[in-house]
Amino acid sequence: MYLILKPGLDPDVQNRFVEELKAARLEVVPLPGLDRRALALVGPPEITERFAIHPYVEECIRDAAPYKRVARALHPHDTLVPLGDVTVGGESFVVIAGPCAVETPEQMQSIAATVRAAGAHGLRGGAFKPRTSPYSFQGHGRSGLRLLREAALPHHLPVITEIMDAEDLPAMTESVQVLQVGARNMHNFSLLKAVGSQKLPVILKRGFAATLEELLLAAEYIVDAGNEAVILCERGIRTFETATRNTLDLNAVAWLKIKTHLPVLVDPSHGTGLSELVPPLSKAALAAGADGLLIEVHPDPTRAWSDGRQSLDPQGFIRLMRELRPLAQLFGRNLP
Ligand code: PEP
Ligand code: MN
Repeated sequence: MYLILKPGLDPDVQNRFVEELKAARLEVVPLPGLDRRALALVGPPEITERFAIHPYVEECIRDAAPYKRVARALHPHDTLVPLGDVTVGGESFVVIAGPCAVETPEQMQSIAATVRAAGAHGLRGGAFKPRTSPYSFQGHGRSGLRLLREAALPHHLPVITEIMDAEDLPAMTESVQVLQVGARNMHNFSLLKAVGSQKLPVILKRGFAATLEELLLAAEYIVDAGNEAVILCERGIRTFETATRNTLDLNAVAWLKIKTHLPVLVDPSHGTGLSELVPPLSKAALAAGADGLLIEVHPDPTRAWSDGRQSLDPQGFIRLMRELRPLAQLFGRNLP
């Protein structure tokens, strides 16, 4: 909620009023302009509403957007999230790549070398896999974290992996540089609070049936718990279309870049489900204003234990990275 205070209030009176708001456990953000008469209040609506009729208040504007900490309106500058040698959310266009799942030491060593040679900036791979069927490969769990770390180390690549259970946080903080909350867990509020209460950056993927407002509210949980290093990821949503695994929503990218200061990645692998669509949609994501890509790459997609159909092979990935470089420049981005 926004309050516009009555004009001509004595500064001491105004300061006391702000203290009263804070004592009611509201966060008060003074807004620029208007003789500092405009205040944004962050807190439960049942408390903010009490002040709407306060005698010092000239006008109260009830904000249609229920998210606050992630809103660009209250925080106009882009949030920058460090990832190894690069920064997500700035001028750089950042690429994170790797297999859907960590399978074997040989697979991980080979793909880490590819990711480094292609000039990508982070190594992904799932050790804990949220599979639709309980009979599908569920990931190696904690031993998979070790394989990831050992493969990334010689190439100085930061590691990104999905967390499904807050119990695994201590093991994750030892082994990885960025946590991923997957589409299926975007609504897992206790997990969101847990990743918000630690320091590693978090990639938050959009649920496949989640609205953009729900995505921003999920991000708000993480930021509200104390972790501002949140990167959003559009990974396709369910629509009536069945020709592709999901429908990659590039509207989301352009909309999110306006509404939030958080960086936005695009995952064209899950977004399309088809490896041949990954290069064109990667380029479209760059053009739509994304801050980077999350791409599945496998040494031999025909033998992948999961998501082989949407995984690029090393040659295809290296070619895509080569094609993205001049395009990034064209769109005012730099692919370091
Ligand atoms: C993944 O990145 O491998 C994954 C499972 O993604 P999503 O949560 O978007 O389905
Ligand atoms: Mn996958």
